[in-house]
Amino acid sequence: MRPSDYNIILNVDKEKQVNVLLNCYTGAFDLVNDDVAGFLKGKNASENISEESINKLIERGYLTSLSSDDETLLIKKIAESIHDSVRFQSYNFHFIISYDCNLRCVYCFENGISTHGTNWPKEKITKNQVDKAFQVIKEKVDLKKSSNTIVLYGGEPFLADNYDIVEYIINKGEEIGFQFNVITNGYDADKYIPLISKYKNFTLQITIDGTKEIHNVNRPHYKNKDSFEKITNNVDLLLRNGARVAIRINADENTLIKIDELTRFFEEKGWMKNRNFSTYLALLVADMDNCSILKNRNTSAPTRINQSEKSLNHIKLLSKYYDLIKNGTLQETVLCQDFNIFSIIKNILIGDGRIVKRSVFCGAQSNNIIFDPLGDVYSCWEVVGISEHKIGHYVPDFLIYQEGIDKFFSRNIGNTSCLKCQYNLICGGGCMGPGALANDFTTKNCNDFQQLFNFIVKYVYNSYLAENL
Ligand code: SF4
Ligand code: SF4
Repeated sequence: MRPSDYNIILNVDKEKQVNVLLNCYTGAFDLVNDDVAGFLKGKNASENISEESINKLIERGYLTSLSSDDETLLIKKIAESIHDSVRFQSYNFHFIISYDCNLRCVYCFENGISTHGTNWPKEKITKNQVDKAFQVIKEKVDLKKSSNTIVLYGGEPFLADNYDIVEYIINKGEEIGFQFNVITNGYDADKYIPLISKYKNFTLQITIDGTKEIHNVNRPHYKNKDSFEKITNNVDLLLRNGARVAIRINADENTLIKIDELTRFFEEKGWMKNRNFSTYLALLVADMDNCSILKNRNTSAPTRINQSEKSLNHIKLLSKYYDLIKNGTLQETVLCQDFNIFSIIKNILIGDGRIVKRSVFCGAQSNNIIFDPLGDVYSCWEVVGISEHKIGHYVPDFLIYQEGIDKFFSRNIGNTSCLKCQYNLICGGGCMGPGALANDFTTKNCNDFQQLFNFIVKYVYNSYLAENL
């Protein structure tokens, strides 16, 4: 018997000698003392451990008779079986109405498509294309292999000029029971009020980068530098007309300094009390290679974003966020992006104890179908519009290429560099976007997952368990 390679052992209380012990493939979770933790880490011999404890460690899978290679093979099989159980089972359909956009965000991840904001493509999805897409959607709905939500994406899906075609999509989707998520910058959302108030089945994700001055530097309209005013007025209108609105706050150091000012603004608007309103902080990540638009602009933004890249990361953002909650600067209704780790850990430590295993990070590896205005199909938001990464086409007919399946729909933690990681069946291997852009589908993308996990385990332990021990 030897300690499993997949034990996660975290000291959460030095004084009381408490360690959280988890194993992501056996699904076991326990609190153990330093002797047991040291033994499993190979630091202590077994003399200090009772026979009963050893038996329990075997029973719970922390000690295994499998060799390291056999254990890795087992993880690979588990990963494949989980992937098979979700892949192509419940398709998520998305429409890219066009790749065009009316904002010129300094960090736009679609800078490659728009030639750094200077040449946005103008093709718009046509009625004929939408009809073709709905043939596919209906077929999957009839087979009960579809989620109940259609996502509208871009570019900017809610451009004023897109109204007619968006209405056409919504009417068709409505007929067969879909609701809609719209990833929009919100600038022209007022034009969509007739549609939104008619159906009331919309959730809009709108990004605000901070207070007015910060937002307007990062996310100017191509004509009107003050996009903040228009967007926030539109949020009022949307909420009044029954839409659900989630505000994503892309945060860097500057955003955090003035975060209380921003949330006060939300309160004064009455948004925080509206049950259809939610908001969360997310790390502002600029792709500096794609950020050369900054070099042509006479603003302070380049330095600011460079600085933020160096100074803020996921773990710092989350720890500052918890401080702000603790000292009352932020209400608990303001959330912080944590890749769902908090609720996973809360469930393990103080819920039913179950570890929900996954072997992929998101639908791009299992169920996403993104219809674009060129008749192409993609599965990953991060690479849309980059022809070499399309996975198929839907005009003249729907076809997913074997190469698309091999690259995007086959990636799971069992065939990536995540295979040996103790966190793999909880993490899912991270967003595949950066790997896909580099044409490497086996690479990991940790995004500080392990550090975030360890940090949140300590936070949950101290907040909910410590005082009862
Ligand atoms: S709103 Fe989105 S697509 Fe438009 S410029 Fe900003 S990041 Fe790019
Ligand atoms: S992405 Fe990183 S943390 Fe996640 S499973 Fe892979 S190696 Fe582990």
